[in-house]
Amino acid sequence: MSRLKGFSSDVKEKLIKIGLSSSEAICLLTSEELSKLLNINLDEAMKIIKIAKKNSCFSILKFSEYRKMTKCFTTGCKALDELLGGGINLGRVYEFVGEFGTGKTQICHQLCVTVQLKEDFGGIDSNAVYIDTEGTFRPERIIQIATRFNLDPNEVLKRIYVAKIHDFSEQLGSLLQLKDLVKRVNIGVVIVDSLVKYFRVTEFEGKIKAKLYELAKFLSELRRIAEEYNLAIVFTNQVIAVPDSKDKIEVVGDPYVGMYVDYRIKLSKVREAIRRAELIFGRTRVSHCLFKIAEEGILDLGEHKSVNNSP
Ligand code: ADP
Ligand code: MG
Repeated sequence: MSRLKGFSSDVKEKLIKIGLSSSEAICLLTSEELSKLLNINLDEAMKIIKIAKKNSCFSILKFSEYRKMTKCFTTGCKALDELLGGGINLGRVYEFVGEFGTGKTQICHQLCVTVQLKEDFGGIDSNAVYIDTEGTFRPERIIQIATRFNLDPNEVLKRIYVAKIHDFSEQLGSLLQLKDLVKRVNIGVVIVDSLVKYFRVTEFEGKIKAKLYELAKFLSELRRIAEEYNLAIVFTNQVIAVPDSKDKIEVVGDPYVGMYVDYRIKLSKVREAIRRAELIFGRTRVSHCLFKIAEEGILDLGEHKSVNNSP
């Protein structure tokens, strides 16, 4: 598929014929070079380069401009926000990994709510998408969390787009609808809980390779959507137990999955409702924090259950 926008089909065809399939590739040429390659005059070549520059994805920004562009929203838990350098950054991909019951789905539910908070309260006043492969999306949980943030639960539910996924091909197909949705609606976060429900490590080798490739393609498309529409991707994944090693972390789909992740956070159970979140870089733990799971959602340890600390 070509990544040429803004050109007539005639010009597009000529560009593809000489191997220029993206606006970015055209931007690297001078008008003289392009005029020779396409056998057109300089004015026409300059016009093509101008269109390519307008439509290319890359731009080099001053750091101050870049900071202005990189918005983030709160997780609703100060300790987690700090661990992640301020909250969930738009344009980035987050992976929460951990065993069953460590709080991955709870965090996903909470982010569907906090993304909707007004900017003054740490949110970005945007909508959420929940791609639910595990069948664990619970509207009643959203209602409990929304109440904690003094939001109207029904309004919050209206701003969450849920896709129930029943098999791997449906998961891949959900991208098509997602691409259409992000064009029409202001989406701040896309959740995939979980990425690997339909990915079985026990499948025979040939099939696994094909599926790994599809999984990588799924993630690279999500990444592209995150960057193009300035939204965050959050997905959950499972850890694989590595015998005789407490420190090594192995997750399903690696090393391919890891290549598309900006922040990998490993969750583990400490005791009862208390959980540990560890930020992992490569295979190293960079830092960690503790949080708890309560009826109101994900809370800081010191936060009292009945205290309403938000808007
Ligand atoms: P994972 O997705 O990692 O398998 P979950 O996010 O479903 O795990 O977390 C399950 C944990 O969340 C359980 O320990 C459960 O007690 C807690 N939990 C779920 N719902 C509530 C609730 N309404 N009130 C308090 N704790 C809850
Ligand atoms: Mg879950």
